[in-house]
Amino acid sequence: MADYFQEMGWRELEDGEQPNHLLHMARFLIDFGHYDDYLTGEWPRLPPAASKEAVKNLQEIVIQTENKECPICLKKFQVNEKAKEMPCHHLFHEKCIITWLNQTNSCPFCRYELPTDDEEYEAFKKQKLRAEQRKEDIETLHNSMFS
Ligand SMILES: [Zn+2]
Ligand SMILES: [Zn+2]
Repeated sequence: MADYFQEMGWRELEDGEQPNHLLHMARFLIDFGHYDDYLTGEWPRLPPAASKEAVKNLQEIVIQTENKECPICLKKFQVNEKAKEMPCHHLFHEKCIITWLNQTNSCPFCRYELPTDDEEYEAFKKQKLRAEQRKEDIETLHNSMFS
């Protein structure tokens, strides 16, 4: 992932340099929305914000080891600093991940999806899941018939 950020021309901040969170996040979001395998392009825009409930229920943890960095602002966590943990176990500064999840519902690192409050999107997700299951059923049937 570090290489990925380097390719995108991002670098760690110099001492005393303030991160331009909004600019950085905007670039990150635009890029994130353009992953070409993302939902195989069936959902025509960035998925909606995470549900308020899901955001509220994120675990808060205390950083124990050095050398972990927040994937959003790329700043290293300090030992004993508090961080928010996504269900996929990725860690972020509270401010970073909450701003992020107000834009879109998935982990900026691995795209693990939190539930949303958007009925249209939730219906789309269910439909997509059903379509995938049907495809698997057909494959299983096909395999059982031809092997
Ligand atoms: Zn951060
Ligand atoms: Zn993750």
